[in-house]
Amino acid sequence: MIMETDVAKNLKEVVGNLPDGVRLVAISKFHPSSYIMAAYNAGQRVFGESHEQELQKKVAELPKDIEWHFIGHLQTNKVKYIAPYIHMIEAVDTMKLMKEINKQAAKCGRVIDILLELHIAEEETKFGFSLDGCREMLESGEWRELHNVRICGLMMMASNVPDETRIRKEMNTAWTFFQEVKRDFFSDAPYFKERSWGMSHDYRIAVECHSTMVRVGTAIFGPRVY
Ligand SMILES: *Cc1c(COP(=O)(O)O)cnc(C)c1O
Repeated sequence: MIMETDVAKNLKEVVGNLPDGVRLVAISKFHPSSYIMAAYNAGQRVFGESHEQELQKKVAELPKDIEWHFIGHLQTNKVKYIAPYIHMIEAVDTMKLMKEINKQAAKCGRVIDILLELHIAEEETKFGFSLDGCREMLESGEWRELHNVRICGLMMMASNVPDETRIRKEMNTAWTFFQEVKRDFFSDAPYFKERSWGMSHDYRIAVECHSTMVRVGTAIFGPRVY
């Protein structure tokens, strides 16, 4: 456990390491609302959570000007609970999920921002589109009919390894793919600009690999107690 005073200090340090144009999503999953308030009082407004019920509880008790990102694997049957308020759904990895987000967003009279999650790391447990799968999905054009979903960019997690070269290679693969997709499908869409990569152990590498959005938890809030 860390002290709430440490949160503000850690936050400042992380933010200080980010160049202009890179935003911080403070990943608060499994941490108490008091920690979120400590970061909020230090100026942070964007937070990320990965469990619908925990998020719901925090939304109810925390300030209304927080922008919540859903960063975890999202089951289609949970979309309806977060659709009224979620700011961005970061890890969209199937057409089925995208359609459900579109449906629930329409019911709320909203357009929900999403990112497409890529699977580039070699670890098997990770979700996400393969590059070919993502390309095929975009080529099918079905997403163009989903008027209540706005695809704002790509998200990925690099392999959880100490090997910096490998992390860098995976992030650069994502960057190259971003440029391809931008050119082929979103050249007239200024909102398609986000590259969400970089966590506590690799966000410094991520900002060198064209990330626009880092998702940092542990380096701010300390280790999670599950
Ligand atoms: C938990 C989580 C993070 C934050 O990880 P840290 O190592 O604590 O910074 C980032 N992205 C996703 C998708 C996560 O689930």
